[in-house]
Amino acid sequence: MNYISRKTLAIINLPALISNYHCLANLAPQSETIAVIKANAYGHGAITVAKHLDNMVPALAVAFIDEALVLREAGITSPILILEGPLSEQDFVIASKHNFWLMLHNGAQIDWLIKQTPIYSGKLWLKVDTGMNRLGLMPSQVSNILATLPSQQLKKLVLCTHFSNAEELDNPKTLLQIKRLTQVNQIHGCKKSLANSAGIINWRESHGDYNRLGIALYGATPLLAKKLPIKLIPVMTLQSTVISIRKLNIGESVGYGETWQAKRPSIIATIAIGYADGYPRSAKVGTPVWFKSQLAPLVGRVSMDMITVDITDIDKVELGDLVELWGESLAIETVAEYSNTINYELLTRVSARVPKKYTL
Ligand SMILES: *Cc1c(COP(=O)(O)O)cnc(C)c1O
Repeated sequence: MNYISRKTLAIINLPALISNYHCLANLAPQSETIAVIKANAYGHGAITVAKHLDNMVPALAVAFIDEALVLREAGITSPILILEGPLSEQDFVIASKHNFWLMLHNGAQIDWLIKQTPIYSGKLWLKVDTGMNRLGLMPSQVSNILATLPSQQLKKLVLCTHFSNAEELDNPKTLLQIKRLTQVNQIHGCKKSLANSAGIINWRESHGDYNRLGIALYGATPLLAKKLPIKLIPVMTLQSTVISIRKLNIGESVGYGETWQAKRPSIIATIAIGYADGYPRSAKVGTPVWFKSQLAPLVGRVSMDMITVDITDIDKVELGDLVELWGESLAIETVAEYSNTINYELLTRVSARVPKKYTL
């Protein structure tokens, strides 16, 4: 059934996605720019996003094989990089069959690789831990491991690392990480991949043979990289509607726990979106909500299906009016700041209850 009663929607602007991709790829013209579409393309719908990028990008990337298999079943043909690599020996067979690029990051995965017969012929990435201390082989281990690989695997191997602080322009950690990977690679001369979105935007030195573009593809700025050299377009606009309007007297409260009381006669609009849709329950009083052309502050607690907004100071609002929670008119980074979180979390947590509407 196609009928939609509640107009709480995530509008996904596909031309913006393509435009952001080209814009960011152009920042690193010597690199190939891989589109990271893990976690359902950061909440934007992995299959549709992949269909729009397929054949335009050198590869797509997801976190684990299950995410990649869904894309293959949908007919996506680009190579798919598996960022957490194989989780069992069997994963090599699947990867081989489906042209997945495996990112190997620990000794067990190397052992599984060595045991494959015939020799594993898919493209391999080797992740080096240069200071994130989460995944990756230690720089000192890399030589020994590479020495055990047959030349046909070595030839197409990509040495890779991931940054812990690339958002921070004045933090020297990124340069240290670049130096560590460069040193390891001096001996081997493999292809390299270092940059995520913040690396692509902030650190030209980090551009490698492949860059891995995630959050910025969706028009969201990597945290703190606020002075962008480029104009990104938000791909997701989260919208809902006004389903109730009421007047409050001084001293009356709104919502669960009576956490907010009217200090003046107030008008409150109730909006049909709540934490079950992915609007953060942690959003503080004062978090802005966009009404046509004006902002009004959230008041009271975020409920499961609703939020309440103080519209006393803005022009007339009517039942059924569309409001924007974040997107083209209201930066998701602002909402994230009020909610004590980051744009990545807000995007990936928009729930399955919110239908996506794609604009072409
Ligand atoms: C998610 C991820 C990326 C993309 O990071 P953004 O900050 O979203 O650009 C790149 N590399 C790895 C290993 C990742 O896990």
